[in-house]
Amino acid sequence: MKKIIVAIDGLSSCGKSTMAKQLAKQVGYIYVDTGAMYRAVGLFGLQNGIISKNSIDENLLSQKISAIKIYFKNIDGIQHTFLNDVDIESQIRTLEVGDAASRVSTIGFVRRALVAQQQAMGAEKGIVMDGRDIGTVVFPAAELKIFVTASAQVRAQRRYDELLQKGEHSDFAEVLKNITERDKRDSSRAESPLRQATDAILLDNSNLTKEEQIELVKKWFKEKI
Ligand code: C5P
Repeated sequence: MKKIIVAIDGLSSCGKSTMAKQLAKQVGYIYVDTGAMYRAVGLFGLQNGIISKNSIDENLLSQKISAIKIYFKNIDGIQHTFLNDVDIESQIRTLEVGDAASRVSTIGFVRRALVAQQQAMGAEKGIVMDGRDIGTVVFPAAELKIFVTASAQVRAQRRYDELLQKGEHSDFAEVLKNITERDKRDSSRAESPLRQATDAILLDNSNLTKEEQIELVKKWFKEKI
């Protein structure tokens, strides 16, 4: 059976990763969470005095970017993100790191470095990749492209519940603000802004269950292979 590339893009906290992970598992494809890669660079910046509240030392980051090694490892069925051989999975899902990721992701040399790695990961196809620019920049020729969206309220509620489940108590208004700010920055940046590829299928999952969503996606996948 022919292998394809599945590109899933969309707004923050719209359930892209859950859907991408489920699809990859069910069809035996590799799953790549590109948001985790930007989060790893954001964490690196926070840990090394490169990112402060109001500024980013782009000069220092450009000197260090080639020394940032990011890879994924499956541990007990869960994909963990590694930064320079340290498992950072438990550190990168916070609002602070999400904000840092969104800020470093506006920088051209950061995007070029990560996009090159992502393209190498998908060279053999048989991959489901999610992010913001997968169908537009990373794999413009991907056979199946899905652009996921949901209302900001629904997305903030999902992220709030997710954080709570991990034992992180947050303020709903703060979560909503974080999401809307990131969406605005991701959509308006000059470098690879978030937008729907012209040949992507639009999926608004505001009123879909996870089960309904995966059934739809699997149907589209089968049509493509
Ligand atoms: O998907 P996730 O919320 O983990 O992504 C964190 C941030 O990384 C996003 O807000 C976005 O700014 C950035 N990102 C990106 N391009 C991607 C994936 C993520 O710019 N392909």
